[in-house]
Amino acid sequence: MSDLKKIAIFGGTFNPPHIGHSFMLKAIANLPEIETVLVMPAKAPPHKSGEIASTEDRVNMCRLAFEGLPKTEISLDELSLEGKSYTVKTLEYLREKGIKNPVLVIGADSFINFHKWYMFEEILSLCELYVFMRGGVSKDALLSAKENLEKIGAKITLLDILPPEISSTEIRKSIKNGDCSGRLLDRNVLEYIKSHSLYKDE
Ligand code: ATP
Repeated sequence: MSDLKKIAIFGGTFNPPHIGHSFMLKAIANLPEIETVLVMPAKAPPHKSGEIASTEDRVNMCRLAFEGLPKTEISLDELSLEGKSYTVKTLEYLREKGIKNPVLVIGADSFINFHKWYMFEEILSLCELYVFMRGGVSKDALLSAKENLEKIGAKITLLDILPPEISSTEIRKSIKNGDCSGRLLDRNVLEYIKSHSLYKDE
């Protein structure tokens, strides 16, 4: 029976974490089949532009933003692996650790480019995907990406849930301009950003 329970993996740069992320975590934790949600900060990825806060700062901000949410744990597993962050490596590592039935949670913008992820076919053989809507990505585009990936055996659930339309990029810009409001992120995270002078130089 316990094998039916799934572990959700929510990876991201979290640069910084925002209320879109928290919304997603709460929605995932609400699903009865989900036992635990692992928030997994990644190393600074090469394709991201702009200032990337240190790993330590991003982990600290994730703790401030997400600790205390139901079923949610911050995991340093991806950060603990050698070399660049690759989802396929993380999933292999989690499987070795005995994590069964992993579900990778991603936003529609990531999903639409999923076929460009390193070793995406192997990723799909190691987990299923739950996908959140995101502004700017049409349902048609999502359905067509889903259909294409299902042809190679992927297990994909499109969640009909649209989180608040916020991005870390937008937050970094508004911090630099001095007009970031507490509407976009946890108050403690905003305090942390201010007291550590993050995102001033982008
Ligand atoms: P950036 O603006 O720096 O690209 P981001 O806001 O997309 O950052 P990430 O840490 O890269 O944040 O996101 C982690 C995951 O959460 C990704 O799969 C992304 O698609 C998804 N995600 C983040 N914010 C939202 C949102 N507002 N709606 C839907 N999905 C989101």
